[in-house]
Parts: sequence; structure tokens; C-alpha cells
Amino acid sequence: MIALSNELFRVENIDLIYQIEKKNRQVFADFSLSIERGQRLAVIGPSGCGKSTLLHLLAGLLQPTRGTIYYKNQPLRGPHQTISVMLQEYGLFAWKTVAQNIELPLQLQKIPKNQRRTLVKETLERLGLADEGRKFPAQLSGGQRQRVAIGRVLVQAPEVLLMDEPFSALDAINREYLQNIILHLCENEQIALVIVTHNVEEAVFLGQKILVFGGRQISLIDNEHNGRTDYRDTPQFYIQCSALRQMIRGDKNET
Ligand code: ADP
Ligand code: MG
Repeated sequence: MIALSNELFRVENIDLIYQIEKKNRQVFADFSLSIERGQRLAVIGPSGCGKSTLLHLLAGLLQPTRGTIYYKNQPLRGPHQTISVMLQEYGLFAWKTVAQNIELPLQLQKIPKNQRRTLVKETLERLGLADEGRKFPAQLSGGQRQRVAIGRVLVQAPEVLLMDEPFSALDAINREYLQNIILHLCENEQIALVIVTHNVEEAVFLGQKILVFGGRQISLIDNEHNGRTDYRDTPQFYIQCSALRQMIRGDKNET
């Protein structure tokens, strides 16, 4: 197949069934989804509906029970270097400085020291952490720690960023600040984003498309006004948030 399309992920008719003590829990049944290069997808729905499971599948950490997930037209059989995952907890090492925490994935990739220094410096600057490099995680605020965790992912120059409820522990102001940072980074560097959230405003602000687990079905909706930092203050934003809330509750069927 010639890769003329912009398609990055193709989830093709997958089933995902967990087996716990002879009991089956089917999370996906004949589910399909396509994600393009540089596209931002928000995933929203109630607890236990399968959001984290989807992220694990896209990360190559879990294989579907049936069907195939393609990444750049190849079946995804395991983790991939250009797919970065940020799971719920920060996962920073307390005994390493901010700069060392960001440097770690580069060390693992055996990138030479000079190059590592430059990349770490650039990443700290991009995230407004230039003055915090020598500090330890415990000396930072929650929002700053979250930025370090983002830095550790970005320094690897991913093509895909998978985030599982990354900002849920933050206050509203910090959350919006980090949403702005993520939005700009993804736009500037053409990084595809799949962000799992249970926050309606976050999904509407960040997602070009929103995957909604609601009622008894999974729907993919367009969110055409996304991607502007002033979107949050517009009437369309409130209308879209309210429509999304209804879909999650299952009051409204897909059109
Ligand atoms: P969400 O992230 O939307 O809250 P999950 O994807 O974590 O939901 O889980 C979806 C469903 O699958 C839940 O019912 C959960 O209990 C079940 N589940 C998740 N992980 C496992 C696992 N490793 N083994 C068995 N069941 C699981
Ligand atoms: Mg989850």
C-alpha cells in the first residue's frame, strides 16, 4: 500500500475482551477508528468505559482480542519509538533534578552528552522551566511537575502523544495553562494527540474530534471551533460543552 494518505493510526474492527477468573469483560466490540498525522483527538466518557484501555492499545502495550491496529500502515505489535505515552501519575524520579529527569530518555537512547544538553535546555525553555533545571521535583508545584513530565516526553520528538487524564489533579488555572502549552506544541510540531479526559471543557478545548463513550454507544464528533486560545470565552464553546454533556449522559442519540 502506498502511504499517500495522512492516516497515522487505523484501528480496524477490533474486539477487546478482558478475562478475569473465567469471566469476560468486553470493552470493545467491532470498533474502528482512524487518526491522522497531527490530529488532536479527545476521548471522554464515564469511569470504566474503556478510555485507558484504548490508550494502552494505541501505545502498543495491549493487543486487541480480534482485529488489527495499524500504525503508519504496519500492524502495531508493541511499543513504538515515535509513540509517547504519559500515564496518569507524574512518574518523576525524586532523586534526580528536573534537567536530569528530562535527560533520562535521551540517555537510554544513548544520545551523546553534548546533544543531550542542548535538547534538555531547549525543552526546559519551551516549557517555561529554564530556571528550574537544577531543582528537584519536590521543590516544584503540581503544575510545574506536570510540565517536567511533558518535557520528558517531548524531548524524544514523538509523532504521537498519548495522555491519560494528565491534568485532572491540577487547579483550573494551571490546567488551562497546560492545555494551552499542549495545544501550541502539537500545532507547531505536528504531533498527533490522543488525550483521555473526564473534563468536558478540556475535551472541547483540545479535540479536533471527540470520541464520546456515552449511553450504549461510542460516537466520534467533529469539534470545528477548537484550537483557539480564546475559544473558551465564546458562545460556541458553551453550546458544544452542553451538547457533549448530553451525549455522555446518553440523552441524545447520534445524528
Ligand atoms: P476507563 O479508563 O474509561 O475508566 P478502563 O479502560 O480502565 O476504563 O477499563 C474498562 C473496563 O475494563 C473496566 O470495567 C475495567 O474494570 C476493566 N479492566 C481494565 N483493565 C483491566 C484488566 N487489566 N483486567 C481486567 N479488566 C480490566
Ligand atoms: Mg482510566
